[in-house]
Amino acid sequence: MKEILRDIVDFFMPRTCHLCGCTLRDSERVFCVRCVETLPRSLYHHMPLNPMERRFAGIVPFVRATGHFIYSRNSELASAIHDMKYRQFPSVGHRLGEIVGEELHMAGFFSGADCIAGVPMHWWKKARRGYNQADFIAEGLSAAVGLPVVDALEATRSHKTQTAMTLDQRIANLSGTFRVTAPEKLQGKGLVLVDDVCTTGSTLRSLASEIAQAVPDCRLYLLSLCVTV
Ligand SMILES: [Zn+2]
Repeated sequence: MKEILRDIVDFFMPRTCHLCGCTLRDSERVFCVRCVETLPRSLYHHMPLNPMERRFAGIVPFVRATGHFIYSRNSELASAIHDMKYRQFPSVGHRLGEIVGEELHMAGFFSGADCIAGVPMHWWKKARRGYNQADFIAEGLSAAVGLPVVDALEATRSHKTQTAMTLDQRIANLSGTFRVTAPEKLQGKGLVLVDDVCTTGSTLRSLASEIAQAVPDCRLYLLSLCVTV
């Protein structure tokens, strides 16, 4: 019965790879195996004091930090990320979260971590978009790693788009944006903070410093799906 239903769904809504458009096998979701293999990995998690960690070292306390895929403009990955954020394809975020989770989990990246949270989005922006892509990334990560997603953070205001800003301008723009709503859920815990694309690191930096102030004994793992170089 399940197979018949799936065949009917496939007939009307063919399951195709979001990147290359090929028909997906039963075992594949969102992307085909070949496209998953060709996504550009940074392999930062294998490097001591990797380039992501250098962005935060001495500024906010953290256990580990990494950005898993290298983001470059006009790449296939960039168009998938754009679809994830702006074209109602949150499933792309969930699947990328799963892939990153599986690969980092095998490498022991999450050793000592207890829970996961996506970078929160202001409720108004989320209402307009319909979803926060970071929540989907966090759920995908959770499915792969087996750690729960915790609801303990919020964005108290919507910040301006930061694309054309310098790092200092971005930090000023983000000041007071985030708040810990449930510090008791984070006390003594290892929290994996998840973002979609890390360019200067200002978003994770702002959120991490807010958490470090509100819950000093919370250990932070800073993780971005993608990182620019
Ligand atoms: Zn493909």
